[in-house]
Amino acid sequence: MSIAENLQRVQQTIADAAKKARRPTDEISLVAVSKTWPIEVIQEAVDAGHRVFGENKVQELKQKVPAMADDLQWHAIGHLQKNKVRKVLPLCTMIHSIDSVALAERIDRIAGEDGLKIQGLLQVNIAEDDTKFGLTAEEAKVAAEKLSGLSNLQIRGLMTVPAFDPEPENVRPHFARLRELRDDIEANFGASIPHLSMGMSHDFPVAIEEGATLVRVGSSIFGKRDYT
Ligand SMILES: *Cc1c(COP(=O)(O)O)cnc(C)c1O
Repeated sequence: MSIAENLQRVQQTIADAAKKARRPTDEISLVAVSKTWPIEVIQEAVDAGHRVFGENKVQELKQKVPAMADDLQWHAIGHLQKNKVRKVLPLCTMIHSIDSVALAERIDRIAGEDGLKIQGLLQVNIAEDDTKFGLTAEEAKVAAEKLSGLSNLQIRGLMTVPAFDPEPENVRPHFARLRELRDDIEANFGASIPHLSMGMSHDFPVAIEEGATLVRVGSSIFGKRDYT
């Protein structure tokens, strides 16, 4: 299967899941996770009409973004170290992985210094898994309220990366809890955070049924990654 065919199949699966959930398909954006793939491979997705890509390493963004068309959107989806903030800001339009108030405040401050505006999501460790980054649900409520008035970083929603489970139905309750948390924060904590970034190759249809507005899909588009 070509990347163009894979993209078409993933978009069709998104449309089918949206229909099943009685949601408008255009409420859901596909972030094509291109980490580890070289520019020539990503270009195939661009040639097929795709424009939104996700990367988890600042180093890869630094190499890829200037080398590709400038009408693409790049999302930073991996754990972000404090000392990489200034480097990553001019390279991306959204940071999915904001996992502390201190990091958010630093992003806002540096964006201000460098004359940039950026969108962000709060990463929530909704399953309270020791191996995962992210705020607890309680911390996310406080953070969303506290960060709602920043001038350069606009918090637009929540993101989660549940521990891998081959059975998507086992992950569904975590996706549902992230949606409930979003609704709770919007109703009670004075923050407008419509976006939910959740769902990867093996579970994005379930994430869409539970309200995802951004799905982060890598291997179903580009194939199996080689980390060697
Ligand atoms: C790699 C990655 C993805 C994509 O994973 P696939 O299983 O290849 O779809 C999504 N989100 C994050 C945070 C990732 O690091």
